[in-house]
Amino acid sequence: MENMILDCAIIGGGPAGLTAGLYTTRGGLENVIMYEKGMPGGQITQSSEIENYPGVTGEITGMDLMIPWPEQCQKFGLKHEMSEVTRVCKNENDNFLIHTSDGKSQEAYSVIVCTGSTPKRAGFAGEDKFFGRGVSTCATCDGFFYKGKEVAVVGGGDTALEEALYLAKICKKVYLIHRRDTFRASPNTVARVKSTENIELVLNSAPEEVYGDAMGVTGIRVINKDKETREIGVPGVFTFVGNNVNNQVLMQEDGNFLCELNSAGEVIVDLSMRTSNAGLFAAGDIRIEAPKQVVCAAGDGAVAALQAISYVDEKLNH
Ligand code: FAD
Ligand code: NAP
Repeated sequence: MENMILDCAIIGGGPAGLTAGLYTTRGGLENVIMYEKGMPGGQITQSSEIENYPGVTGEITGMDLMIPWPEQCQKFGLKHEMSEVTRVCKNENDNFLIHTSDGKSQEAYSVIVCTGSTPKRAGFAGEDKFFGRGVSTCATCDGFFYKGKEVAVVGGGDTALEEALYLAKICKKVYLIHRRDTFRASPNTVARVKSTENIELVLNSAPEEVYGDAMGVTGIRVINKDKETREIGVPGVFTFVGNNVNNQVLMQEDGNFLCELNSAGEVIVDLSMRTSNAGLFAAGDIRIEAPKQVVCAAGDGAVAALQAISYVDEKLNH
């Protein structure tokens, strides 16, 4: 396949990238490579349990869910290249060039970027140790495990407050821990949080340590601005302190991006997953307004693939 122009290059092999791979190849594109720097599957493979993927019942880990996906794609001809993409740019022929960390480059008519986003860590003691065992960054994913129990939420932005409201419907009580006494979140959301009876605001307080035992988290210790500490006994701690969008592959040598991003660094797409740059599509957690769910990322990948097929067809046959 060397020196051949790819019909489509897919960057990232999570649910969005793998579904894009399935739909592009099964839809007739012949030379498609999915660049995934690790094993395909994406961030859901870190999850010990997923119970909201439609049609999949019973106890299943994120890894179990994703294992059959690459094989299904390979059946239709998708190639996986285990390389890290460093940059995607456009060349003088109006095609894309995919640069990889091994110094190679590959030309492609279309690109679907599916590199996801990474929730930031807050940086308190015990956060990494108990991640996935009581510390979570996804209320939609893990909130149900704390049905009827008390949980803590860390953060003061829109995500933290909206997720606190979501958790308050499932959990007995939510402690909302924020390092200041005013919020970044929109005033309407702040008002809803303040009027929710089972949300207790723990303000001017930063998490110092999450602790627990072999079974998982048992509590969080916070310290306030007067240096007073407080122990809050909870089995679950949700942190929402912002996201790093994995958009680095789109950054050009001059520091500009290959397509338009919003102020949070998310790729702006239309309902067809088209970016502002013709032939470049984005799918999954990297795009604006992503619900950050496997089913949605997979749906995006399918939409982007169908558009990439039309784009390549138009480019080569008209
Ligand atoms: P990702 O899954 O993040 O995949 C991106 C891929 O791109 C990664 O494999 C990465 O290695 C690769 N990549 C990144 N940069 C490069 C590069 N430069 N070169 C090559 N490869 C690159 N969702 C649910 O629906 N239900 C749940 O219960 C649930 N639980 C979750 C639990 C945890 C602990 C986490 C972390 C997430 C959970 N999610 C859940 C969210 C879900 O995992 C994501 O919404 C989904 O994986 C997003 O898919 P994606 O394909 O957009 O990105
Ligand atoms: P965000 O706005 O950056 O808020 C992050 C919050 O975490 C802030 O309150 C910050 O505190 C706190 N924080 C950061 N680092 C911390 C640390 N180490 N320890 C403790 N607390 C820490 O992130 P976001 O809430 O994810 O929102 C991201 C963007 O998406 C925003 O533009 C937001 O408006 C948007 N968004 C919009 C909606 C909506 O419109 N419905 C929903 C979700 C997100 P400080 O305030 O003190 O800095």
